Amino acid sequence: MIKKITLAQGAGGELMDQLIKENILQFFKKQGNAEVRLTALDDAAVIDDIVFSTDSHTVQPLIFPGGDIGSLAVCGTINDVAVVGGSPLGLSTGFIIEEGFSLETFEIIVRSMGQTAEKAGVPIVTGDTKVVEKGAIQQFMVNTSGIGNRSPFLEKNIKEVNRHRKFTNRWLLDSNLRGGDVLVLSGNIGEHGIALLSFREGYGFETTIHSDVAPLNSLMAQLLAEGGIVCAKDPTRGGLANTLNEFSEKSKVGVFLDEDAIPIPEGVRSACDMLGIDPLEIGNEGKVVLGVVKEKVDDVLSVLRKHPLGQRAAIIGEATETVSGVVMQTAVGGKRIIRKPLGDPIPRIC
Ligand code: MG
Repeated sequence: MIKKITLAQGAGGELMDQLIKENILQFFKKQGNAEVRLTALDDAAVIDDIVFSTDSHTVQPLIFPGGDIGSLAVCGTINDVAVVGGSPLGLSTGFIIEEGFSLETFEIIVRSMGQTAEKAGVPIVTGDTKVVEKGAIQQFMVNTSGIGNRSPFLEKNIKEVNRHRKFTNRWLLDSNLRGGDVLVLSGNIGEHGIALLSFREGYGFETTIHSDVAPLNSLMAQLLAEGGIVCAKDPTRGGLANTLNEFSEKSKVGVFLDEDAIPIPEGVRSACDMLGIDPLEIGNEGKVVLGVVKEKVDDVLSVLRKHPLGQRAAIIGEATETVSGVVMQTAVGGKRIIRKPLGDPIPRIC
């Protein structure tokens, strides 16, 4: 039987993890002098103190409430550079366009990329354009890569962590979490996925939910300037469930989560109930999950709440040796194990 790649293997969950580990990593074994290597499977790599990340975007529909594939591509890459402790410097963009694609829509998307990049202060400085024959792809896809240098606030952040507990890593990696660290989420979850679904044909439900797509570089800079951050990750595909499992797995520490504390807007909750999907598994595009030393949590929360992108920030749980994996105290008083989603409950959201 010929084995074929399935949609689920690209959906950011357990199956994609398997594809990467079994079919990709073995061919990229030599990592030169990369400090944060491919095998870390983190948001970005680090080589010669340059933070480097890449993303391809295949979202459908191309334009959705709160954003479009262009703003998504720019923010997604900026965020992956920022959450490991990089200060994003510049982006590349590679367009793949289907023959016959509307020039007007193309321009809307490219303009949006330019505006988003300008707003974030990270210019698009190099690019590539390809057109393929009709049917070879669906409409339009875009790849963005980004580089950044070491955030000027990273040393201060690490020093602040070290005042409270030993911390030896130079970057904010998924593997840095330790028992006693507190988990902080910067705001509402589920908005991006639900906004997209509501706009897709065939779902036909009404919602006022907009995508949360936003660049996190200014927020990350302020957080590092405050200090006390041990790890950070944007909960994109696979959502909060995937992010917390990544932290737990790579850091080899349990995560205890409080369901009541997780900010979920009513519109997301009701759409999830109707569609039978878990808000914890929905991708977000303008949120960050932080591991913070407990002595600094109040300061970090106050930085978050003063920033437009962190107003609904909340403490959602803690890292602990007393559980293994991710365990959630549910609103009704029970406990639930939160696993890595197999794939994304909503395909093609980024
Ligand atoms: Mg990421």
